[in-house]
Amino acid sequence: MPRLTTNSRALQLRAESFLPGGVDSPVRAFRAVGGDPPFVTHAEGAYLYDADGNKYLDMFGSWGPMILGHAFPPAVEAIHTAAAKSASFGASHAGEADLAELVTKCFPSVERLRFVSSGTEACMSAIRLARGYTGRKFVIKFEGCYHGHSDALLVKAGSGVATFGIPGSAGVPEETAMHTLALPYNDLDAVRLAFANHPGAIACIIVEPVVGNAGTIPPAPGYLEGLRTLTHEHGALLIFDEVMTGFRLSLGGAQSLYGITPDLTTLGKIVGGGLPCGAFGGRAEIVNFLAPLGPVYQAGTLSGNPLAMAAGIATLKHLIAHKDTIYPQIDTITAAIANGVAALAEDAGVKLTTNRIGSMFTWFFTGTPVTNFDTAATSDTAAFAKFHRAMLDAGVWLPPSQYEAAFVGTAHSAAEVDLILQAAREALSL
Ligand SMILES: *Cc1c(COP(=O)(O)O)cnc(C)c1O
Repeated sequence: MPRLTTNSRALQLRAESFLPGGVDSPVRAFRAVGGDPPFVTHAEGAYLYDADGNKYLDMFGSWGPMILGHAFPPAVEAIHTAAAKSASFGASHAGEADLAELVTKCFPSVERLRFVSSGTEACMSAIRLARGYTGRKFVIKFEGCYHGHSDALLVKAGSGVATFGIPGSAGVPEETAMHTLALPYNDLDAVRLAFANHPGAIACIIVEPVVGNAGTIPPAPGYLEGLRTLTHEHGALLIFDEVMTGFRLSLGGAQSLYGITPDLTTLGKIVGGGLPCGAFGGRAEIVNFLAPLGPVYQAGTLSGNPLAMAAGIATLKHLIAHKDTIYPQIDTITAAIANGVAALAEDAGVKLTTNRIGSMFTWFFTGTPVTNFDTAATSDTAAFAKFHRAMLDAGVWLPPSQYEAAFVGTAHSAAEVDLILQAAREALSL
């Protein structure tokens, strides 16, 4: 039966008369996959509900934060309680250190940290801190890695930027981006060459230790170790952007999974339990360069917001208490989904490269192994778009772009595996 879209379409048209493209974040407009973006009325556990009465299995989890499922009762209760005491103080409260303590427990490399309101701010501020601490200008990032939409980091930035085929963005002056060196991911020689070409001038490397924003791309064996060695050799800082991977790949993120200690770490998404929240931190000696202790300025009216702290505390407390069951469980369910559909694609003669680490994965519509942005870009995005539409019609909402990771949370169980395999069997045979 065709999916009803009447109400969502009307809401989209209304939104378009006030918001560019009808959205506040470009990927939500579904331009890469076509069709009407459903307007969500509410969500619970692993499911989203739209204005036309459709129910969808959620495979993007608000782009990562919803690892415990939507409307997770302890988080809802914590937000209620906090909201009754006022949504914001603009002054210090105990919740900030409470959440900070939980973060440092999960991430031993983070001795001191500061809360902000988004992953974008966390990465932008971490770069400023790295430049302030080292007194150097250049930043190395990698093609297909997304570190938010700040000017200096919007160079070959994957994700929405890749989805729309824009190399960077209009409105970013060359002068702003000229100290950003964008290199291919998984290529240590490119990094060696950059250090040789800019002796004593590179402040830091910022990297998604497991790429999520070009679709899922794991680090090659020895790659992260190589970045750690090279940054040490050249006196540059290593920043792990764990906005997506933090609390997801393990309680301590990718750095704990791969056993690498970065100098600075950026966090977002899960850390705020679905409320606007990010954080950046690392060795105390570096982070203490921030004002009011040091010369690097950084501030925020809503930073450490009491609602965000409360939702983050409820989320992290649950993850910490149940880590021994949660992480193996979501790994098993994700493997069943990712590998199950990969097997169906093989049966149907559809070329698919499946990349998965823990509870994040991507089905690339290509026969080529995907190890960096160039190989991700060999994907047949038209075939992905067709698959996406068929899955949505069957009640499974995948991230609406080939260059994004899908996420599984604790609300996904064996029933959801069956649902998605059933839907994919049909979608792949169309
Ligand atoms: C989502 C994301 C960001 C940006 O976070 P926002 O909260 O959207 O600003 C930065 N880095 C990575 C790795 C991300 O996945």
